[in-house]
Amino acid sequence: MDSHWDLLDTALTGMPELQVIPDAVSQNKTMVEIPETIPQTVFDSPFWEDYTNRCIACGRCNFVCPTCTCFTMQDIFYTDNGKAGERRRVWASCQVDGYTDMAGGHAFREDKGQRMRFKVMHKINDYKKRFGNQMCIGCGRCDDVCPEYISFSNCINKLNTLVKEEN
Ligand code: SF4
Ligand code: SF4
Repeated sequence: MDSHWDLLDTALTGMPELQVIPDAVSQNKTMVEIPETIPQTVFDSPFWEDYTNRCIACGRCNFVCPTCTCFTMQDIFYTDNGKAGERRRVWASCQVDGYTDMAGGHAFREDKGQRMRFKVMHKINDYKKRFGNQMCIGCGRCDDVCPEYISFSNCINKLNTLVKEEN
C-alpha cells in the first residue's frame, strides 16, 4: 500500500502551528425535566389517550433509538429447499402490533397509548430504578423520525407537569 504522508509533511512545512479545540455538543436546545418519582395514578391517567389517537404504531421511534435493544427471531426457509433455512435475529419494537402477542392469541398492550406509556416508563423510570442511570440519552432521534410529530421530550415535560399536579 502506498503512503503519501511525506507529501502532506512537505505541504505543511513552514506553516504556523495552530491549536485546535474540538467543539462538542454540551447541551440540548430542548430541555426536559424528568420526574424523580412517578405515582401510580399517572400510570392510569387519561394522559396516555392522546397517544392512542395519534400514534400509528410504525415503530420508527424504536428503530432509530440508540438505547432500544429489543429483538425477535424469524425463521427463513430457503426457496430451493424448504426443509432448510436459518433463524435470524431481527429488530423488534414495543410500539408495533404483535410485540406483546402470546401463544393462544392474548396481547398485553393492544392500545397504542399503553405502548407509549410502557416505552416512556421504561426509558425514564424502570431502567433507572434497576440500574441507577437514565436510559434515554436525549439524542432526539425519535422526535425527528416520528411521522405523527409525537415528541418524546414534550411527552416527558408534560408528564412532569402531571406528576407535580398529582403530588
Ligand atoms: S431521545 Fe431517548 S428515547 Fe428518543 S431516540 Fe434518543 S435515546 Fe431513544
Ligand atoms: S414513530 Fe411515532 S407514530 Fe411511529 S410508533 Fe413511534 S410514536 Fe408511534
